[in-house]
Amino acid sequence: MGSDDKNEVVKRMSDLMRSGAVMLDQTCPLCNLPLFKLRSGEVICPVHGPVKIVKSEDEAVEVLTTTVLRELEKVVARRLHNYINAVLKEENLDLSGLRDLIYLLDVLERVRRIKKT
Ligand SMILES: [Zn+2]
Repeated sequence: MGSDDKNEVVKRMSDLMRSGAVMLDQTCPLCNLPLFKLRSGEVICPVHGPVKIVKSEDEAVEVLTTTVLRELEKVVARRLHNYINAVLKEENLDLSGLRDLIYLLDVLERVRRIKKT
């Protein structure tokens, strides 16, 4: 995480407090930042947004898995997007990048398949 990201998180946390959100003693399962309870009752992580409060270890694993898969999907989609942008900008198609593309699509396909189970 770069210092700009950290500053952004600190800013978001202080914005939350200013808007009347309460910092909880629970932390986000993904980034370990403190969670905030909004006036609406919704619990959110300053980085990951709405978070479900879990009652059991099984449920925690479930939520963590779902979140990790969603993050992975996001990372892969971003990489694919960057690759396609690079191809569009260049006149010559770099075929060596296609192998990475196939790996990324493979990851995406696996993530989708896991999510369905
Ligand atoms: Zn988080």
